[in-house]
Amino acid sequence: MSSLDRLFHPGAVAVIGASRDRRSIGGAILHNLLTFEFQGQVFPVNPRAAVVHSMKCYPTVEDIPDPVDLAVIAVPKPHVLAALESCGRKGVGAAVIITAGFKETGDAGQALEREVVRISKHYGIRLVGPNCMGIINMDPAVRLQASFSANEPVAGNVAFSSQSGALGEAILALLLERGLGLSMFVSLGNKADVSGNDLLEYWETDPRTRVILMYLESLGNPQRFLEICQRVSKRKPIIAVKSGRTAAGARAAASHTGSLAGADNAVESLFAQSGVIRATSIEELFVYASAFASQPIPRGTRVAIITNSGGPAILATDACIELGLQIPTLSAETQQRIRAVVAPEASVTNPVDMIATATAPQYEVAMRAAAEDPAIDAIITIFTSLEMIDGPSVAHGIVRGAAGCDKPVLVCFMGNVRSREAIDLMRDAGLAVYTFPEDAARALAAMVRYGRWLERPAGIRPQFADVDRPGIAEVVAAVRAGGRTQLTLVEAQELFALAGLPVLPWQEARTREEARAAAATLGFPLVAKISSSVIVHKSDVGGVRVGLESADQAAQAFDEMMASARARDPRATLVLQQQATEGTEVILGATRDSKFGPLLMFGLGGIFVEVMKDVVFRVHPLSDRDAHDMIRAVKSFPLLDGARGRPKADLAALEAVILRLDALMAACPDIAELDINPLFAGRTGTPTAAADARVTLL
Ligand code: ADP
Ligand code: MG
Repeated sequence: MSSLDRLFHPGAVAVIGASRDRRSIGGAILHNLLTFEFQGQVFPVNPRAAVVHSMKCYPTVEDIPDPVDLAVIAVPKPHVLAALESCGRKGVGAAVIITAGFKETGDAGQALEREVVRISKHYGIRLVGPNCMGIINMDPAVRLQASFSANEPVAGNVAFSSQSGALGEAILALLLERGLGLSMFVSLGNKADVSGNDLLEYWETDPRTRVILMYLESLGNPQRFLEICQRVSKRKPIIAVKSGRTAAGARAAASHTGSLAGADNAVESLFAQSGVIRATSIEELFVYASAFASQPIPRGTRVAIITNSGGPAILATDACIELGLQIPTLSAETQQRIRAVVAPEASVTNPVDMIATATAPQYEVAMRAAAEDPAIDAIITIFTSLEMIDGPSVAHGIVRGAAGCDKPVLVCFMGNVRSREAIDLMRDAGLAVYTFPEDAARALAAMVRYGRWLERPAGIRPQFADVDRPGIAEVVAAVRAGGRTQLTLVEAQELFALAGLPVLPWQEARTREEARAAAATLGFPLVAKISSSVIVHKSDVGGVRVGLESADQAAQAFDEMMASARARDPRATLVLQQQATEGTEVILGATRDSKFGPLLMFGLGGIFVEVMKDVVFRVHPLSDRDAHDMIRAVKSFPLLDGARGRPKADLAALEAVILRLDALMAACPDIAELDINPLFAGRTGTPTAAADARVTLL
């Protein structure tokens, strides 16, 4: 039993604000409930009418003699609170508030919405909205059409939640047009109570839902979204369109990480970590949904293309290759089977081009041959309708050829000759039908990615018991005591050490004698750099000197560098640091988003981050698997992995550092952002260690 059962499976529904006027919202909802043949009781509520829609109408919900599970509230705003109170006293279990004018309108509306939440909490009413279009449950035992949508919904296996009412309506219409049936629909509105996260959990176990679609504008609780999606997406594909930007970009950034962590990275990362399939547009949402709702997940990337015209097959091939799919030559046996039935001019390697005269039986044989070929994982069948060939008959051939196939079959039906009839026929038979070959390729590629997600181990989130929280708090307190938010290099490196992050061996020097002594203990070559909370871009002002080879040179560097540094910052000191003689410079960073929490960044250093902006983000908390994927997700990854004769970096050590950094961000909520630029990623057996650190507190 879920607390949402009375919402989606009500035995009785009251429509508060039911109106005689069908064009009013209350009137439309009542009409929809009745004409869609809701399987329970319906009670109109309206103090100004005795009869609505030939039904006895009640002045308040409390006047209804029978129990009521769900109330749909469509009264003017000033009456919403009273209506909800009345529902509470009546023992109504769930409410959908259609009425607008709440949080979305400013302070007064926000206060009103808080009241709505208070009342529903007090009475234990689960609430959808306010400011929404309603809900639909297509379960034949329920048949609940409690929305004012003008679309006539068709039953199917797609659950859909929309944060925008109007767009929800448009998407419903498009779903129907594309032959996609619904299991449930929820217009979330302001999400005062029931959230997208709640729906994900509800749909996780809903036997009628195979695919979950979401239109999102904001994520109320990103961490919970991550937890839930990680679990649910292993059972059902979640396809989401997310619009709008995050707050991360709003703060003026002191670090590379901060300036790159704008816009959309948090959402992108969250989706990547939780297996959510991101559609970049509503159009793409449909491209994906058509395939996921009807086709099995492919076991691999090998695609057979079967066509009656060359052009679309070339487009399909190009798109597949670009998306990382393969078009392998078919086996000799498969080629023979096809060769036996097609025209002599046909090509049977792959794409299989059966030329314009291709008939239904030829499609059938070619598709079955591909379906039975163990070296093929998916089929894209293309038909360009021609006057002389009967489209619906070919469609029958395609359906027969796909019968019993346990691989995804995506059909492209181009041209106009009786195509509507043919397309309906194939959709009814459970095939995914597109117009454009590129769409079929995109859908297939998304399915392949999802298949990989299903196989991806969940990973573990390591606990770092040795992170010295009190020590870290002391460093932070000292910085704060100085009225600063910017740490010096010395403070930052101390902080790292307390978190167990590896730093190249270093020592601080306040005098030239200390510099000399430090040099003698550290060994050579050495790097000298300024430590100051004022000078943050050290090399811009001559604050870094590499290649020191003796204690004398260290002492000289001290004299020369400190003279100009102390003019800027009297507290400046010098850090002497062992020089890394090999390894690849990478950048690690972290920033704290007000909504998403810590965001971790990884990329290769230098031009890769500064010019190419080739970086990848992940949201806290990271699993070892996230760290693993993160490193491999940058385009320049081959440079770490031994490309072009480069040393192969110790990737496990790098992953460990990323996880430590994540732990530091959790252990020290004061940190706003930080850069480790560079961290030297050495090959196995050599150190992986930070050479620079920039840390800013909130
Ligand atoms: P900043 O970023 O403030 O200019 P860094 O400490 O990052 O100062 O030094 C600038 C550059 O000098 C680094 O990007 C790196 O290329 C090089 N460098 C700094 N420290 C070391 C070191 N210990 N070993 C080798 N190279 C270093
Ligand atoms: Mg640097």
